[in-house]
Order: sequence, then C-alpha cells, then structure tokens
Amino acid sequence: MTTSSLMQTYARSELAFERGEGVWLIAADGRRYMDCASGIAVSGLGHAHPKLVEALKSQAEKLWHVTNLYTIPEGEKLAKLLTDNTFADVVFFTNSGTEATEGAMKAARRYHFAKGNPEKNRIITFENAFHGRTMAALAAGGQQKYLEGFGPAPEGFDQVPAGDLDAVKKIVGPETAAIMLEPIQGEGGIRSMDPAFLKGLRDVCDENGLLLIYDEIQTGVGRTGKLFAHEWPGVTPDLMAIAKGIGGGFPMGAFLATNEAASGMVPGVHGTTFGGNPLAMAVGNAVLETVLEPGFLEAVQKKGLQLKQKLACAVDQHSDVFELVRGEGLLLGLKCKVPNTQVLVHMRNNGLLPVGAGDNILRIMPPMTITAEEIDVLVEKIEAAAADMENELKNVETAK
Ligand SMILES: *Cc1c(COP(=O)(O)O)cnc(C)c1O
Repeated sequence: MTTSSLMQTYARSELAFERGEGVWLIAADGRRYMDCASGIAVSGLGHAHPKLVEALKSQAEKLWHVTNLYTIPEGEKLAKLLTDNTFADVVFFTNSGTEATEGAMKAARRYHFAKGNPEKNRIITFENAFHGRTMAALAAGGQQKYLEGFGPAPEGFDQVPAGDLDAVKKIVGPETAAIMLEPIQGEGGIRSMDPAFLKGLRDVCDENGLLLIYDEIQTGVGRTGKLFAHEWPGVTPDLMAIAKGIGGGFPMGAFLATNEAASGMVPGVHGTTFGGNPLAMAVGNAVLETVLEPGFLEAVQKKGLQLKQKLACAVDQHSDVFELVRGEGLLLGLKCKVPNTQVLVHMRNNGLLPVGAGDNILRIMPPMTITAEEIDVLVEKIEAAAADMENELKNVETAK
C-alpha cells in the first residue's frame, strides 16, 4: 500500500479511474468498469455527457464566480425551472447535500421564530436516517457511529422508528417545529416509506402547524422515475433538500420551500460564498433540462422495471447470495445473505461498481442514461459475481 497524504477517513480501494464514458469508468490500465452506482446517485446522466460538458465549458469561458450580492441569471433560470416543476415557490442553492438539509432545518426553525414562536425548534427525525455530516445533520440522522467522539451533538432532535406514526403523534409537543425524512432511505438501505405513513405525517403537520421536510438528496432528480420520489405517493412537503443528482457530478445542492415555509428567511439571515455559483448553475440547468425532456422520466421508469425484474430472477437463481431486491425506478437495493462487502469484492472483480448501504444492501443505481443492452451486461456481471461468491462459499465449506 502506497502512503497517502490524504486524511485516512475512507477505506479506499486502490482502483483509480482516468476517464468516464456514459455508464463506464476506465481505469489507468484500460480496464472498463460499469458504474452501477453513479458515484453515489450523483452521475445520473452518466460520465462526460456531451450536453453537460458543453454547458460547463462554455460557462467556464465566460464567468466563474460572482458573489450572491449580484444577480446570477443562470441561478434565476435554474430556480425558476425547479419551482415550475415542484411544490416549491423559492430555492436556495448550496454546495452539498448536508448544507441543503442544514438550510432546510434552519428555515423551519426560523419560520416559527418569525411567527413569534421561537420555542418551536425541535425536529422529529427517524431511525436509520442519513442527512449529512455536519454537526446538526449528524444530530438529525442520530446514528451513534457517526456522532461518537465529536462532543456534544446539537440539541433539538427527537428520533422515532421509521414508519411508526403513533410514535410521531406521541412525541409531537409544543416545541416541535418540523418532521424531516427521506421518502426512501438511501444510506439506511433503500427502504421506502409507506405512502399511508407519509400521508399520516402530512396530516400530523397540518393539524399541529408543523413543517414537513423531505430529504430527496439521493432520491431526487429523476432517480425513481419521477422528478422527485414523493410524487409517487403524491404527498408534498413544505421544504425539501436536494443535491447529488442535480449537479450531474458538479458539486451543488439546494433547498426548496413554499413561500410560507420560507417566510422567516429574510435578507441577512442565511448565506453562502459559493452556493449558486455560475459554473454550478450552468451544469444544473443542463441536467434538469435533460431530465425534463419529454419521455426521459418514462424511460427511467421502464428501465427501472426491466432491471428490477432481471435482478429478481438473479435473486431466485442465487438464493444463497441474495435475499431480495427492492426500491423504485433506478434506485434499487439488493439485500445479501452473506456480508455485502464480500459480494462487493466479487462484483468489482467482474468489473461492476455498486456501493453498499445499511441492512446488508448493495445499491444498484446506474446512470439513468443506461441502455437496455447495458442493463443486460449489468445483470450478467451480477450473475457472474454471484457464481463466484457461491464458489467461495463452497470452498469455505469443503475446507472445514
Ligand atoms: C448524500 C446524502 C446527504 C449528504 O450529502 P453530501 O453532499 O454528502 O453532504 C444527505 N442526505 C441524503 C439522503 C444523502 O443521500
């Protein structure tokens, strides 16, 4: 292992890539790997998409940065595109997902403050949630393994089991400001929230004057076959955090709000140096325009169904390795029966790059631009990896 000057916060593989083309990543030695995780649900239009490359190049030749004290036309345009196509009236651009969830939480607290209820500042969140790595986002996610050793976590979060509406109703109190959740938990293991549960949360919010916040950082921008995952159950939020897919690989995020939910966010209360930067905005527009082209989302739905059916067959044929497949559109999870890290090694050896998640899941979320032929290649590689895993299990068995 060569020594690295990077802080050792990742157990990195030594695999390094030189370039990308669509769903493919090409290593320095020329080997081609299928990126069936899109980074982590980031490169939704694949690598080096010509429209995104062109958007970034032409903006790079014009203007990189101006402060948010000036009007940024590309940002006005992207915000309009987002509000025209969602529940939201207004948008704040960030550089990352965690800043987007932080911003949404700040907006929720500030909403109640502006209404004269500063005591309403607690946010209800759910077990196995993931909302990012800043201190408040970690406190919201509530995962002890990420909080340990970082001192006192920010106050103001009440966590209950996901799906448990009664627990939510019990914990709502005079200090509750909002409820925040992922409509489909990503890091937690591709766990979809029941539509009835989401509807129940909406009702609890309406009855108690609370704001409903969705974290659609992983589920958004077409990944499930709708622009946003909450369009499937049809339960709209007051605030929503997005990131990952919106930049297609360029770092950016945003939080979206209704005018009412944003009513506390007045000049001077929140800001960012880089958020809404012209380069990011140019790429964001190109991504969203592409995803909104007629037929694009329908194609994602169709590809998602094809892939899920084929994976279900693979699960049946390799029942010693896989337990089930779940998820929506091209946000799929394969639950393993052996440790997912072991299966992952065989997948990599077969030129496939999924990523793990909680509940022993391997996330399968290829670029939305994947073709039917590439879906077949993906499934073949999964079958080959499963066969290798079965051989390993047999060898372990005979060695005993
Ligand atoms: C990735 C992710 C985040 C954090 O985004 P960063 O860009 O890594 O800060 C937050 N919430 C969800 C649901 C995510 O998937």
